[in-house]
Amino acid sequence: MHNENRFNWQVVTLPIPYDLRSVNCYIIEEHSGVTIIDTGDDTDESKAIWREVIGQRRVNRVLITHLHIDHFGLAKWFQDEYGATIWMSRRSNDELLKRRERFAQGMTEDGSLSFLADYGMVQDKAASAVFNRFEPFQVQVDVIFSEQELIEGETFKLQPIWTPGHSADHYCFYEKETGVLFLGDHLLEIINPIVMPSTQMQNPLALYLATFDSLGQLAINDALPAHGTQIEDFAERVSRLMVHYTDKCQQILAAIPAEGASAHDITNQVYAHKPPELRGAAFIQVITFVHYLTERNYLIRKRKGQSYNFYRSNLANAEPFTL
Ligand SMILES: [Zn+2]
Repeated sequence: MHNENRFNWQVVTLPIPYDLRSVNCYIIEEHSGVTIIDTGDDTDESKAIWREVIGQRRVNRVLITHLHIDHFGLAKWFQDEYGATIWMSRRSNDELLKRRERFAQGMTEDGSLSFLADYGMVQDKAASAVFNRFEPFQVQVDVIFSEQELIEGETFKLQPIWTPGHSADHYCFYEKETGVLFLGDHLLEIINPIVMPSTQMQNPLALYLATFDSLGQLAINDALPAHGTQIEDFAERVSRLMVHYTDKCQQILAAIPAEGASAHDITNQVYAHKPPELRGAAFIQVITFVHYLTERNYLIRKRKGQSYNFYRSNLANAEPFTL
């Protein structure tokens, strides 16, 4: 997809062997080469596509939206193969160093999710192995970007915007002159992004929702997500998202009986229409929701044996939930 009137960006869609089946990376033309946003996962198929797309051009820099393997998996390869500089936020780099340290100690799982056991979550070792491969985490970051400084290429100036929610280290990039917003996984057209629960941000859904106050102020001509089709109408998509969250929170509150329920019980109730083997992601979402509802005083959390139970508060019984 070439955009003749604005600065030249092109989407590069790469296959990934899980979840959403493909990831959109973006390539921005410069006079002396290209800048790339996200790399795709570390597979031979993706490398072949990149070689074809890039041709003889120089890769000036690679920007990473967040430290998930479908977004940064080939960063090290870009460094080795093209001599590209790798740019990440301080938050992503901290996460990278932490993960490398865990690898050095022989631990291959993502330690930040170990608290999920409190909610009755069993770590899926096979899935963990797919998302925590040693090699991609060995990349050495060249430049740390921050919101304080524009990323200036030859044909663009990108403003990094911290957009926590999908992950604590997530950034979007905004090109003010042209109104192009590179969204990463922050907002997708095709599906509501997973807002990950995390010990680093106790109420990630509140942080996530708050980002749309500032993003809503931007003049946006192209809203470019990292999965699926382009977002046609950003404001309309955001309002659909808010309706979705309101509905989900109301469904969760309605699913909790007087004697309380665990995140597991709630998931099985609210997502009864999904086959049990597909409820893993739903369960993670429910944890994010119950955190949010607890912080907003709609729920009360109490330990019950090994995990937590949730109870509707007086507030939840007195008035309908609003975001
Ligand atoms: Zn992704």
